Amino acid sequence: MELGISGKRALVCASSKGLGRACADSLAAAGVDLVLNARGAQTLEDTARTIRAAHGVSVETVACDVTSPEGQAQLIAAAGDVDILVNNAGGPPPGLWADWEREDFVKALDSNMLAPIAMMTALLPGMIDKGWGRVVNITSQSVKAPVAILGLSNAARTGLTGYVAGTSRQVAPYGVNINNLLPGSHATDRIDALDRSTAEREGISFDEARAMRQSTIPAGRDGKPQEFGAACAFLCSQHAGFMVGQNILLDGGNVNATI
Ligand code: NAP
Repeated sequence: MELGISGKRALVCASSKGLGRACADSLAAAGVDLVLNARGAQTLEDTARTIRAAHGVSVETVACDVTSPEGQAQLIAAAGDVDILVNNAGGPPPGLWADWEREDFVKALDSNMLAPIAMMTALLPGMIDKGWGRVVNITSQSVKAPVAILGLSNAARTGLTGYVAGTSRQVAPYGVNINNLLPGSHATDRIDALDRSTAEREGISFDEARAMRQSTIPAGRDGKPQEFGAACAFLCSQHAGFMVGQNILLDGGNVNATI
């Protein structure tokens, strides 16, 4: 499908690996010029080189922490006149409700609620001026169905979801569409880390932890980052102009709900 966004410019936060990288790949395949970001400069440069070579688009890099005000300022400066913003950052660690202190919540909020809000606050006005823009926030299936050991994620991402529900309707009259993509389990480093943590906690092997988790997914497997990236590119396309404030699950049927 022709997405109609060739020549647009996108900032994809937290995108040297995993789901962010997959979104960057799919946008590049649609002819979108990119600004990529991660904290680790080496992997970021390797990813940028690979995407440039594969798709012939312009790829700039900003090595910084998207959760810090300094990092956000660097990203906003590099983004310039972007048409598309993909918000992403690392997820909070798993744990038990009784162990989390105020500082743990502040960290999770900075990462998974306040950073995306800061990026939208800075970049939405330019999109509104142009009369066209797309924002995709990578959140989690945990906003639809809680993952008990990810209480920090459940809390912070639900806050972002509430913010997007209202704000997406305020910017829609200007041709700017904000939507959220909710990953269930996808084959990235993050899911490896969660399976390792389950294995340690339950005293089982990594393979057993993985098999146990995957047995609850009706599709019988983890999602592929490429599938996630393709959905993101669609949400950034001309075809998604009537989608406002939606929360799209990509979870292989894991959330057992009718709507
Ligand atoms: P991943 O494979 O670990 O990749 C994370 C990427 O983000 C890396 O490029 C990493 O690079 C970058 N990053 C992390 N923290 C950053 C920061 N503070 N500033 C800038 N860049 C940062 O993770 P993923 O699986 O793609 O997950 C992406 C998001 O989706 C996370 O919030 C995760 O919790 C959520 N999620 C994932 C799944 C899943 O199954 N994979 C399910 C539900 C939700 P550096 O480390 O070099 O910065």
